[in-house]
Amino acid sequence: MTNLETISHFINGQRTASLRNAETQAVFNPALGEAVAQVAMGSAEDIHAAVGAAAAAFPAWSARPPLARARILAKYLQLMQQHTDTLAQMLTREHGKTLDDARGEVARGLEVVEFAVGIPHLLKGEFSDQISRGIDAWSIRQPLGVVAGITPFNFPAMVPMWMFPIALACGNTFVLKPSERDPSCSLLHAELLKEAGLPDGVFNVVQGDKAVVDALLDHPEVQAVSFVGSTPIAEYVYARASANGKRAQALGGAKNHLVVMPDADMAMATDALIGAAFGSAGERCMAISVAVAVGDVGDRLVAALAERTRALKIDDGTAPGAEMGPVITAAARERIESLIGAGVADGATLVVDGRDYRVPGRESGFFVGGTLFDHVTPEMTVYREEIFGPVLCVVRVPNVAAAVELINAHEYGNGVAVFTRDGGVAREFTRQVQIGMVGVNVPVPVPMAFNSFGGWKRSLFGDHHIYGPEGVRFYTRHKAVMQRWPDTITAGAEFAFPQHN
Ligand code: NAD
Repeated sequence: MTNLETISHFINGQRTASLRNAETQAVFNPALGEAVAQVAMGSAEDIHAAVGAAAAAFPAWSARPPLARARILAKYLQLMQQHTDTLAQMLTREHGKTLDDARGEVARGLEVVEFAVGIPHLLKGEFSDQISRGIDAWSIRQPLGVVAGITPFNFPAMVPMWMFPIALACGNTFVLKPSERDPSCSLLHAELLKEAGLPDGVFNVVQGDKAVVDALLDHPEVQAVSFVGSTPIAEYVYARASANGKRAQALGGAKNHLVVMPDADMAMATDALIGAAFGSAGERCMAISVAVAVGDVGDRLVAALAERTRALKIDDGTAPGAEMGPVITAAARERIESLIGAGVADGATLVVDGRDYRVPGRESGFFVGGTLFDHVTPEMTVYREEIFGPVLCVVRVPNVAAAVELINAHEYGNGVAVFTRDGGVAREFTRQVQIGMVGVNVPVPVPMAFNSFGGWKRSLFGDHHIYGPEGVRFYTRHKAVMQRWPDTITAGAEFAFPQHN
């Protein structure tokens, strides 16, 4: 692998090699099934260097007026807009998603930067005049210090942008640990931030896996950790970061349902299901992986879905007209195919089988065809587990109450949708469902950057959702200030709690 480009760390304004460990790991183009680069696998020493640089940069960065910080982010936004195509190509090469989808990913990430540019307004506190005689009070929000982000493979450009634009705008300094599967985007972020005028040390990247994550979770200078990834790791990161006294938010996996009521617009519901189940090969935490067919909808829905699933255009993400690319690794393909086997063994009806799918000219690529199961029941593995691949399960239920009961009993609670023409059903569903993000005739209800994103139950560990106003709260501490000036003092020492009259 030595003749392949090595994707390095970025510490204190420079691309840097690992300090101790010369290990690397292959980075694949999943459509070709070939290594196209190698990534440096960092160690605790690299984390110490990055956190040290971030800690040294914090006093000056946090002292800059919020408007000055916002101007650097505005410049970065402009640079990113100019580099969207480069970033999208990079993303497709290492992740496999289609170029269109990659451009969409970058656009959704940039919306968080647009939100963060408004930070002077977002950091405004509250002021209360004359809370007692001669005393005024107000609140401010101050940055935490060095904060860290640990991100998954499935949105290598966007998920870091859910975190660092707001963290930096609030005055924190940042260490990013991107996914080792598609690490290149992280360096482009770092370089464009530097070009935009971000001082060295304010944003750092350390590549690697568990060893560097653990070093971040244990480092005493790291004040807060944002994590996005699978549920077992989210739970681990949350527990270890919290035990070390850090603020933590850890977003995990999902099993998102889309309920189709008998009165739904079937064409609209079918389109929604196909896009939401198979877009990005099902490797989205907001992908729909379960269609809940209510009443007599099942046969009509399955027939329409089967036809569309068989017709999916699956190809290299760079191919014109491709609707779905490969999955991330050969191991992911094997896991997905073995879960399809488990569905068959458990007695689900395999309507469309995506196993052993080959794309001509891309025979070594990690492709899985669109897969459709009918008559799935809640105890089956394909229903319980997050498959994170292009597999859609249809569960049939008699009425909306049974649909809500089914969804609420699942361990995950990220996203959900209901398709209906009945406002009363939609309203009651929305109120009763135990899920963090709900769509009514909207299959993938990802909140915009000026709202906040997050699931319930085992899809999120922590108290804060990510980005938007919750992001500003997560990356700042509240301070209450009370002020009195000597010439307004009217009485002597007070020994009882004041009664403000
Ligand atoms: P993952 O949990 O394997 O990895 C996420 C990050 O954790 C990576 O940076 C990885 O290097 C690190 N990591 C992996 N194993 C670790 C360990 N044992 N100890 C410490 N760190 C470890 O997740 P992934 O496969 O990259 O991403 C897919 C998962 O992410 C899916 O479950 C998906 O639902 C979830 N996801 C959730 C959201 C959300 O908003 N809830 C968004 C995107 C992805």
